[in-house]
Amino acid sequence: MRYSVDQEGFYGVFGGAFVPEMLYPNVEELQSEYLNIINDVDFQEEYDDLLKNYVGRPTPLYLAKRLSEKYKARIYLKREDLCHTGAHKVNNTIGQILIAQRLGKKRIIAETGAGQHGVATATVCALMGLECIVYMGAVDIKRQAPNVARMKMLGAEVRPATSGSQTLKDATNEAIRDWIGNPTDTHYIIGSVVGPHPYPDMVARLQAIISKEMRWQLHEAEGTELPERIVACVGGGSNAAGAFYHYLNEDSVGLVSVEAAGLGIHSGESAATSVLGTKGIIHGSRTLLMQDEDGQIIEPYSISAGLDYPGIGPMHAHLIDSGRAKAISITDKEALEAALMLSRIEGIIPALETAHALAALDKMSIKENELIIVNLSGRGDKDLAAYQTYLEGLNDG
Ligand SMILES: *Cc1c(COP(=O)(O)O)cnc(C)c1O
Repeated sequence: MRYSVDQEGFYGVFGGAFVPEMLYPNVEELQSEYLNIINDVDFQEEYDDLLKNYVGRPTPLYLAKRLSEKYKARIYLKREDLCHTGAHKVNNTIGQILIAQRLGKKRIIAETGAGQHGVATATVCALMGLECIVYMGAVDIKRQAPNVARMKMLGAEVRPATSGSQTLKDATNEAIRDWIGNPTDTHYIIGSVVGPHPYPDMVARLQAIISKEMRWQLHEAEGTELPERIVACVGGGSNAAGAFYHYLNEDSVGLVSVEAAGLGIHSGESAATSVLGTKGIIHGSRTLLMQDEDGQIIEPYSISAGLDYPGIGPMHAHLIDSGRAKAISITDKEALEAALMLSRIEGIIPALETAHALAALDKMSIKENELIIVNLSGRGDKDLAAYQTYLEGLNDG
């Protein structure tokens, strides 16, 4: 239990619920209800049924033979890229929509940066016939046209956030404003293990299906439930939380959190929170975040939109701070190289976020025959334009 959340929503010194007073009723309702709902048999049956028949779980745990040969190890890929909508995010939105229904909510709001979480939310709202409003920065709406089209196709309303830098942080502010104005009929689906308690714990529990499956799948394949290391990329940290969850108290299993170093950790264009971050409060919880001396958020940068976040979830801040997890930072260039490597060696095109986790294999000293699981958080279809530019650069150079 050393790494689980406590009664007040803290992981060590990180976490909590630091929200404006006007949000207390909404957050307190969730705090008092989420565990009862998640532990309810009726919820579990419906959640398991949808994960199986709608999302396509269990996702394979695939022994990547040629990748294993390259590193002289036994490397398994947990194939979250094969989930409906192409990434792990739907595990969380399916769970939260069922929670929203049980709380009697009729209206769903969400914030999105690149649009991945917006699409996963619009998908489950269509599935359940609930109204869906997604807040998105006006700049991001222009940059992420295909995902905006997907959300609209699914019947969601995409509302532009036109203040500030017109990106994710501004979309989050708009969503919070909406939630304050609609406390009784609206549920706010947050897309990662961030935000005020109970969101980090609630989202971690909904993603924990990833490591629950890993344990029996690895046992079937190798006769042991325990790998030597698990590697996952960390934006807010939801796919990593899911991959680590059922191994947190297994001290023999090393946990590797991979974050984005952008153009280089100290280049000024980075999202390497474990190195550059200091303690502070962002989006309702105390965690590690990138801020200047006056506590102003430093704009993060990464080629991958899903890792382009100035903080990490409080659970990951605690895992890194306590030494339980080891953080590795990967640059844009290293991630692009790893994406091409996996595509050519295994026939799997990973998402740019996921490519960071794969690139970390080069930075680890791997023992001969070491048993490693890499969480393959998503597929690369959404990143083909970036990959094409990269390939063209290689041909010119
Ligand atoms: C959104 C996303 C991430 C980053 O989010 P986490 O909450 O850190 O998991 C990673 N991989 C993919 C494919 C994503 O879509």
